[in-house]
Amino acid sequence: MGIEQVLEGHDGFVTTRLQKVVNWARRSSVWPMPFATACCGIELMATASSRFDLARFGAEVMRFSPRQADLMLVAGRVSIKMMPVLQRIYQQMAEPKWTISMGACASTGGVFDTYATVQGVDQFIPVDVYVPGCPPRPETLIEGVMAIQRIIDEHGLPPNDGSGGLRRPLGITIEPTHTVRPQPVPVTLGHS
Ligand code: SF4
Repeated sequence: MGIEQVLEGHDGFVTTRLQKVVNWARRSSVWPMPFATACCGIELMATASSRFDLARFGAEVMRFSPRQADLMLVAGRVSIKMMPVLQRIYQQMAEPKWTISMGACASTGGVFDTYATVQGVDQFIPVDVYVPGCPPRPETLIEGVMAIQRIIDEHGLPPNDGSGGLRRPLGITIEPTHTVRPQPVPVTLGHS
């Protein structure tokens, strides 16, 4: 059905709320700032590839300049040394902006329970959506992007904490979109 059929009998007028149009435009053009430091970054690249096609959600335009991005996408472990860089880039991104923490390492430090690895980036920047997995599958990351889109649809702007404009993280956790299949070949250790 084309737009002509939808408008038939309406004399060419469409009415809507400005806020709805703004939210629609905003949610359809979420541009990520890929802060990809490790293997999760490879899965992020796969998400943008033709097989998974993040472009269907308008979020394939990875920007490497914070002034052009509104979604901080942390993919991989972050060391204590890198944290000031991440924080600075996050602060340089213009409002409104959102954050996805992709994978176990970004959200909790993962298996790297060491003094050199940040045990969760949410200790330093507000995280809106946590995408679980090691690494998360591209479908799960896409679920995370869709969660951000739903937030924009419903609320438009990220909420503040009511005390002078500080950003309140939304802290949404995505459910894994797949179940792990058993190992097809039995693993044998040592010599028989
Ligand atoms: S969560 Fe797993 S895949 Fe992602 S960066 Fe950490 S070790 Fe790599």
